[in-house]
Amino acid sequence: MANYPFLKESVDYLRENGPSLDELLYDIAYERTRGLGKERVLEALEKGKIDEHSLISDADQLVELLSYIIARILVSCINDPYLTRRYALSEAKTAGNRLSSEDIDFIALVASELGLEVDMEDGVCKIHFIHFIKNNPQRRSKPWKFVDQDLRNGYVVLKDKVRLARVSQQALQFKIESELPTPVNDQILNSLDNYIKEIKTSVEEKKNTFKPQDLGKIRVTKLPPCMRTLIAKVQAGENLPHSGRFALTAFLHSIGMSSDEVMQLFASSPDFDESKTRYQIEHITGKISGTEYTPPECSTMKSYGICFGEDGLCKKEWMTHPLKYYRVKDKGAKKAGKKDHKE
Ligand code: SF4
Repeated sequence: MANYPFLKESVDYLRENGPSLDELLYDIAYERTRGLGKERVLEALEKGKIDEHSLISDADQLVELLSYIIARILVSCINDPYLTRRYALSEAKTAGNRLSSEDIDFIALVASELGLEVDMEDGVCKIHFIHFIKNNPQRRSKPWKFVDQDLRNGYVVLKDKVRLARVSQQALQFKIESELPTPVNDQILNSLDNYIKEIKTSVEEKKNTFKPQDLGKIRVTKLPPCMRTLIAKVQAGENLPHSGRFALTAFLHSIGMSSDEVMQLFASSPDFDESKTRYQIEHITGKISGTEYTPPECSTMKSYGICFGEDGLCKKEWMTHPLKYYRVKDKGAKKAGKKDHKE
């Protein structure tokens, strides 16, 4: 239960044997638990996984289980989409790693609890094709492509237990993301105030590391704020929404970056999938689709919510497109370069 605190059995156990919410929030006996809950969130934020602890005694196991509850409460109190996503990803990764070393019957049990329709018959593990598609972690890479699967009566045969663990991991990530934030009241916010402040500071520090760095020959200072922000997020390991990936890839291609250079940039995303990313890049750059896409214009970027931090140049009446911004800055930089050269 301490290793898989999201299971119904764990929740039922706590309901019968665990402390009340008041005890958990205020009692000195649970101070270590509250501290571990905070650490759990900070580990997710900083490392993208939850540390393993030695769980020898019953007390250690209970503290570990309760730290999951505290961590979820803290993430809900902070209610920051970046933190929530990072936390869900980390809990799921940690559980997925543990699951892959369990026996297949246990993994199937956990998968069922996560809502996956799993069928175990004569030692063959199968999963309903809808659940396979929904929770496929790498849908365009070779071993995971749907067309490559062994499909029997609407079920996909999973060739080994590690694959079932990986699909379960994805389902768990979606589940945690969908459950958070849970409602919190003023009493909870006040009692955990110090922890909340500490985590918020770390979240802000983490976000401040989203400073874009130059991409080879391309100077970030010439890029419009929207593209600088998207690059900074990728370089900080954040997953971009599809609209952001599309706009950034089309923009970088338009200003002369090669597909390999764009690939390198996306390699720092938490869920980087080489074949999927290459497919998307080659589609946008016209290699597969035959159409070379350009980035959306400013009004569309705004409607997608990816026009970040407009500056003075963005506010000019004639500024309608991120590429226009780049050309103006690039021209300005070249003129200044020539002038410096003459002097
Ligand atoms: S106004 Fe246009 S160029 Fe400026 S940040 Fe927004 S989308 Fe980018």
